[in-house]
Amino acid sequence: MIRINQLTKSYDATRALDNVSLNISRNEVVSIIGYSGSGKSSLIRCIAGLEPYESGSIVTDLVPKKGYNGIGMVFNRANLFPHLTILQNLTLAPVEVLGISRKEAEEEAIELLDKVGIWAVKDSYPESLSSGQRQRAAIARSLMMKPEILLLDEPTSALDPVSASEVFNVLTTLKDKMTIVLVTHNIDLARLISDRIVFMSGGRICEQGTPSEIIDHPKEHQTRAYINHCMNMVY
Ligand code: ADP
Ligand code: MG
Repeated sequence: MIRINQLTKSYDATRALDNVSLNISRNEVVSIIGYSGSGKSSLIRCIAGLEPYESGSIVTDLVPKKGYNGIGMVFNRANLFPHLTILQNLTLAPVEVLGISRKEAEEEAIELLDKVGIWAVKDSYPESLSSGQRQRAAIARSLMMKPEILLLDEPTSALDPVSASEVFNVLTTLKDKMTIVLVTHNIDLARLISDRIVFMSGGRICEQGTPSEIIDHPKEHQTRAYINHCMNMVY
């Protein structure tokens, strides 16, 4: 679904990605882990088409739709439109960009809000929601566009553990239905959801494998050190 070949990206003198190659299958869930500054966000921003890069290539199997590239992106802060209700946040892009009727968009939005467990706040404004509810609304908003690829950059890092697990429950329902690339430090949840975990270090892929290979039997000492740090993290 996504073929990344020898991708290199710098910000001025800082090399953020150094010769990264990675293939991701359709409907695979890949978690990207690694220390801050290792290039995780740069990688998924490049996949999203939000960042230029100097060399290498990214090819996807997406079929572009009118005005929409088929890639959904969720950030660690939900970035909802503060002046719109949750329902309006969800229906805006499908109506304006995809040209779906408002009635149809609202029906889909209500169904999705029900699915992510926040139907009751559909007419509320983002500021009155908890951060976990906001993040679930942000995911639902992405899903309204029916992305084939969903990219999430530390979607639970601003959340308490209970809200984080609610967000992961939502992601679990999407498994096997779309291609997901998830940046996270939450090792327990990465284990539950991922088909594959990629450990990045210094702009490179240091090690990758199944959750058990990476979490329980890491080969590289850097991977082991990072996993130990995360496991000992106290919330
Ligand atoms: P991560 O998401 O793993 O923390 P990033 O992809 O954000 O890593 O960053 C990789 C490297 O690129 C870091 O050294 C970071 O300081 C640098 N970097 C990221 N974004 C920018 C930017 N907009 N301008 C300059 N340097 C950046
Ligand atoms: Mg980042």
